[in-house]
This record gives sequence, structure tokens and C-alpha cells, in this order.
Amino acid sequence: MGKCLIIGAGGVASVAIHKCCQNSEIFEEIMIASRTKSKCDAIKEQLVGKTKTIIHTAQVDADNVPELIELINSFKPEVVLNLALPYQDLTIMDACLATKTHYIDTANYEPLDTAKFEYSWQWAYRERFEKAGITALLGSGFDPGVTSVFSAYALKHHFDEINYIDILDANAGDHGYPFATNFNPEINIREITAKGSYWENGDWVETEPMEIKRVYNFPVIGEKDMYLLHHEELESLGINIPGIKRIRFFMTFGQSYLTHLKVLENVGMTSIEPIDFNGQKIVPLQFLKAVLPDPASLGPRTKGKTNIGCIFQGKKDGKDKTYYLYNVCDHEECYREVGSQAISYTTGVPAMIGAMMVMTGKWQKPGVYNIEEFDPDPFMEALNKWGLPWQESFNPELVD
Ligand code: NDP
Repeated sequence: MGKCLIIGAGGVASVAIHKCCQNSEIFEEIMIASRTKSKCDAIKEQLVGKTKTIIHTAQVDADNVPELIELINSFKPEVVLNLALPYQDLTIMDACLATKTHYIDTANYEPLDTAKFEYSWQWAYRERFEKAGITALLGSGFDPGVTSVFSAYALKHHFDEINYIDILDANAGDHGYPFATNFNPEINIREITAKGSYWENGDWVETEPMEIKRVYNFPVIGEKDMYLLHHEELESLGINIPGIKRIRFFMTFGQSYLTHLKVLENVGMTSIEPIDFNGQKIVPLQFLKAVLPDPASLGPRTKGKTNIGCIFQGKKDGKDKTYYLYNVCDHEECYREVGSQAISYTTGVPAMIGAMMVMTGKWQKPGVYNIEEFDPDPFMEALNKWGLPWQESFNPELVD
């Protein structure tokens, strides 16, 4: 079918690349390009001889638009799958515009010097992508990503109107470390230490970090403490799901994780303000990232399951209706299949599927779109086929 350029060679990229290589009919040729070429080569090494996909590797600084343009022009991919960090979204979009290449990512842009993420920066590219005749698919991970596709699917098949969405992200995995993050520690800690917020009646309601706690009895994994966080898909779903009154996002955290985080915060280790250290400027959070376990190293140690999904409440044929769509994923099974734990797996699989949707033309529309703006059906079908089967329930416990 065609060629895909994958930027980044971390935990999520590694899974997406394994999945592209299982899907060689679509991904005939891929280029893995990242800041550290040895990481690209190491992933290639794991796959060569086990796939029909032809794999190339390259070094690229994704903060540098001319370098990106040169790489895209030399490889000529149909799509660029951005699995670097949110800081690189805009430079990669600029390079896609200059070369008229479709763009896919899993996380919205965040400036390096402010712990703030929102879609405004990427939505500002709409007209330029339309004029260039290329598609930008935003948020093709799990959350955002699958949770957004679940919302579009629920609206299409089960409701006339959805009024409430609660997105529940539970990880019952245990990696045996006292403290480690399951994906990039810097991005993860910036997200968790920020104020919480939820969308209600067309506006944001802000909360203190971890202020709202609920206990929920999750299918398969059981009872867990979960906390309300701000999350990027609330912003686009608030606009794209008509009739919506409230959307909240909850994530589970164990007490030990929260205690460690509190101590690190209290001593200033989660700050993104540069400090002087032995005549050198360092950012405490970046230093913390360097001493924490690499998320990619958690794979062989993590046991247990994740459960991520959405509870919808709304109306069908004039009657109240409730519907829960979720996926359960097993850390050890993911490791056996692709050598990564379930957090990278649940993001890397939808990233591959999103790239496939655009490459095959099923989801092509010039402009910049959030994932829930496309027909959810082919994506839902692909989730079942490519390792993230979903389950549904019509009488779930609700979150108060
Ligand atoms: P990692 O830190 O493991 O990997 C990031 C990769 O990007 C690394 O290979 C890194 O290179 C590379 N990179 C960073 N800066 C540059 C640059 N300037 N030029 C080229 N390459 C660069 O992160 P993850 O794999 O955990 O996460 C990847 C993305 O997925 C993030 O944007 C994250 O927010 C998103 N995500 C989305 C989720 C969702 O459900 N939607 C869930 C989890 C993550 P190097 O190896 O040299 O550092």
C-alpha cells in the first residue's frame, strides 16, 4: 500500500512500529527517525527477518523544520506519524505542510516552558491544511484516541443525544518499583501536578490537583481510587458531541505513587523552572526524568491489567440510557507480543490504526481534525482485529 515516516523511537513508537510490521500489506515501507538513531536501529533489529515491511532508520531533530523537510522529501511517505513529544507537534506539522504530507499524532501541542496543553495552536493550522489538500488527524492514542472514537461510536449507534461522559482510565499494573511512570515521566508528571478541570455546560470548572477523588469498581480489575484530572480530549469532545452537558476524566493512582509525588513536589523536583547547579542551568523535572526508571524498561516487570473506557448517559428514543464501552489490556500479554507494557501498547496500537485509516483513504479530509470527527466504525473494527478488543455494558455503576 505505501510508506509511513514514524518520528520518535520511545515506548509508544516501539509498539506502533511492531504493529505496522504485523500489517505489512498497508505499511510496505517505514522509516523510523528520531533524535537518537541507535534507538531506531535497536527497534529495527528486533523486527528484521520477522516482517515483510521494509524498515529504514534515520537521525532527525524534530525541532528543526528544514531537517524534517529534507527527510520527508528524501523518503516521500504518504503519512507522517508523530510519536515524539508534544513539544514537536508544530514543527512536524510545518514540515508536513511544506511537503504536502498527511500528519497523525497522539498528544496535543505543549510549549516546553509552560505546563499547559490545549488544541488552539494546532487548530490554527486548519485553513493551511485545507488549502494544501492534506489531513491532520489529532489524538490517535488511547486517551485521547480510542476514548474519543468510543464517544463517536456511542453517539452514532446508541444515542440520539449524549449528555454526560465520564472517561475512566485505570491501571492495575504493578512494576515493583516504589515510583516510576508508565510513559514519558516529564509529560506524565506535568499532566498530573497541574490543576484538574472538567467541562460543564459549555465552560471549564477548575479544581486543585487531585482534589476530586472517587472509588470505582472496575470490570475485571476491581475497586480502585481514581482522581479527576484535566485531559485534552475534554476540549474537543465538548465541541464535537452535540447536547453534551458534562465531561470528566478520572485516572487511578495508588497511595504510594501519590505519596512519592507529593514529596517530590514539596522538595521542588517536579518544577520546570530552570535552576543553577554547579554553574549549569538544569530543569528539576528533566533531572528527575533522568534518574527515574525508563518507561520502556518496565515491560518485563509489569504484571496486571489496565481498563480504560467511557460511561455515557443520554437519551435514545425519548428514554434515558446508560452505556459503558471499555478495553481491558494485560501488561504481560503485551510484553509477550511486542516487548512493551500495556500503557505503551494501548497508545501504540491506535497510533498504527490512525495511520492506516489515513493511508488507506478511509479517513482523509483536507484540514485538521480530532479523531472523533471521523466515522468510528472502521476504527472500532480495527481495534478488535489489532489487539485492543472492546467490551460493552448497558447497566454500569455510575460515578457520582
Ligand atoms: P518517550 O519519551 O518514550 O519517547 C519519545 C521519543 O521522541 C524518544 O525516542 C525521543 O528521542 C524522541 N524525541 C524527543 N524529542 C525529539 C526531537 N526533538 N527530535 C526527534 N526525536 C525526539 O515517550 P512515549 O513513547 O512514552 O510517548 C510518545 C508520545 O505519546 C508523547 O507525545 C506522549 O504524550 C504520547 N502519549 C499519548 C497517549 C495517549 O493515549 N494519547 C498515552 C501515552 C503517551 P530520545 O530517545 O533521543 O529521547
